[in-house]
Amino acid sequence: MVETDVLKDKTAMVTGGGRGIGLCIAHRFLRAGANVVIAEADATLREPALARLNAAGRAVFAACDVGCETAVAETVALAIKHFGKIDAVIHNAAIADNRPIEELSYEGWRRVLDTNLSAGFLLAKHAAAYLRKTAGAMVLIASTRALMSEPNTEAYSASKAGLVGLTHALAMSLSPVRINCISPGWIVTDSWRHDGQTTTLSQQDHAQHPVGRVGRPEDIADMVLYLCSDKASFITGQNIIIDGGMTKKMIYS
Ligand code: NDP
Repeated sequence: MVETDVLKDKTAMVTGGGRGIGLCIAHRFLRAGANVVIAEADATLREPALARLNAAGRAVFAACDVGCETAVAETVALAIKHFGKIDAVIHNAAIADNRPIEELSYEGWRRVLDTNLSAGFLLAKHAAAYLRKTAGAMVLIASTRALMSEPNTEAYSASKAGLVGLTHALAMSLSPVRINCISPGWIVTDSWRHDGQTTTLSQQDHAQHPVGRVGRPEDIADMVLYLCSDKASFITGQNIIIDGGMTKKMIYS
């Protein structure tokens, strides 16, 4: 099958698709023939994101806070209104609040959990009926921080570990809809931003990875595409780690 036909006439929702890994996923899906609804909190990303995607009527931008149930329900309805069905839901939006725990408010903790974890529940809840109709797929973007930590990452790490559990629970509840998650390692997203940010990477940044380089958004987007395609029809409930081997590396000094 040629690459452009892998998701022909499918419809995908991508949260946080205005920039970064989410925008790269949206681009990849459009190239594979899908229609894409971007659910993005930052409405100012509408023009630059749609310009970058250059997909005529096949990409729709919805200003949507994924931590808000009404907004998620409205975005699902928008996808149905535009494209008539939903074949794939990719929950990629996330935030972090890396304050020391003594300074992290309960409200701040909940904001991270709402955006990163509860949104996965809301998307599954509101898209379930449509995903069942198409025997579709859902991919949740977690993180290797679900498995390992630096100090002051409690809310982010807990939210991402929660997504891993949510993934296998949903895989049982929504079967035969397939639900998987991906845990990226360090991914430099400069090439999919709109602000000209350039990250200076040292030789050591690359060399510390067993594969010899830092990750790229395409490393994640390609796996999302595969997991949402028929080629992955025997894979569900899994957490796929894409980190250049870093979580397999012994680091005792
Ligand atoms: P970015 O921060 O570059 O992009 C995330 C996007 O999500 C932003 O456009 C952001 O909008 C949007 N967003 C934030 N909150 C909401 C919300 N409530 N509703 C809708 N959209 C929202 O992230 P990356 O591209 O770097 O990462 C994408 C995913 O990959 C995330 O889940 C992240 O945790 C995960 N990941 C990334 C790694 C990396 O090294 N880059 C490593 C491991 C995991 P706004 O501009 O308003 O913030």
